[in-house]
Amino acid sequence: MKALVLHGKGDVRAESVPDPTPQDAHSALVKVERAAICGSDLHLYHGDVPAAPGLVVGHEFVGEVMEVGSEVTNIRTGDHVMVSGVIGCGQCKRCLNGEVVRCERKQTRVFGMAPELPGGQAEAVAVPGAEHAIRRIPEGVSVEQAVLLTDILPTGYFGARNADIEPGETVVVIGAGPVGLLALLSAQLFGPARVLVVDRIPERLALAAELGGIPVSAEHADSVIAEMTNEQGADRIIEAVGSDATILKAIEWVRAAGTVSVVGVNTSPAVPFPMIHALMKDLTFRVGLVPVPELWSALIPLVACGRLQPERVFTHRMGLSEGAEAYRRFNAREDGILKVLLDPSR
Ligand code: NAD
Ligand code: ZN
Ligand code: ZN
Repeated sequence: MKALVLHGKGDVRAESVPDPTPQDAHSALVKVERAAICGSDLHLYHGDVPAAPGLVVGHEFVGEVMEVGSEVTNIRTGDHVMVSGVIGCGQCKRCLNGEVVRCERKQTRVFGMAPELPGGQAEAVAVPGAEHAIRRIPEGVSVEQAVLLTDILPTGYFGARNADIEPGETVVVIGAGPVGLLALLSAQLFGPARVLVVDRIPERLALAAELGGIPVSAEHADSVIAEMTNEQGADRIIEAVGSDATILKAIEWVRAAGTVSVVGVNTSPAVPFPMIHALMKDLTFRVGLVPVPELWSALIPLVACGRLQPERVFTHRMGLSEGAEAYRRFNAREDGILKVLLDPSR
């Protein structure tokens, strides 16, 4: 089959690889109909996350079930499904409850990050533990929305939920990438008075404003946040970048007894953490990998009823065979590119 393969830093190619085969009676084979490229894929592309050459990448994908193991009862051949980008063993109590990041057998994994679990920027994927990792795409949810439900909409929601937002509060989202923008939409569900969104890219800030956020250019953020909060700091901060600098800014910008919720992936072995400021602020600091299936029960009805419209983040639709170019443009943030949807039939 055709798939996007990472060969090294900055080198992703569309090429032929062996067809995937489901491993056991708990697995399923999914023919991919749409996949997307995530900011997390760029960590691999930059070499920040080490990967053996030859890795089939991608963890955001939806498709049609082609084969299903005898132990999998919630889906059938021919179903159109979404697959959680993050999975666990699929059989322990935690996994069956969707809490894949707390898998009791410590088998939490992300598709397309290691050779044991090839990714979804491909024509087909073998999905282990299919019972908990796969959900039929519900009525009222479009294919593009379903792709976002496999990772970044749950991530944005997870960031907002972890931020302890109360009605009337001031929230700052750092980063107006797809994850930050979906954190903005998710934060709005909790009733804040205002959500400031900080970034450096004008087009992304403009979209944040369109989605109901208050755009703040990163270079003026210190003074804008101080002024808008009467020098007290923001109640809650959602960090959706993953750099040392933005984590430090989050701790600086939050008010006393506020919350910093980090969803950006930071791959440094040690981030300088200003313990004394955290102590003096009585800070709550949370960080985590998104437990995708656990969040579906909240997010599916919100999307199906039109309360959340995450599909606005897709700006580019390309064929899987154009994968190398898609990565290059996404990485360079060329011509307003925000999120790329890939079609494996092209
Ligand atoms: P992205 O790279 O498209 O967006 C990051 C944004 O941050 C960009 O718009 C960039 O301009 C902005 N930025 C960079 N430095 C900044 C600064 N100093 N101040 C303000 N803005 C700054 O990525 P994305 O797809 O939106 O993903 C964001 C992060 O979320 C990534 O680190 C990704 O790995 C992570 N992620 C985490 C999870 C999880 O489970 N925790 C899941 C998915 C993605
Ligand atoms: Zn991702
Ligand atoms: Zn498990």
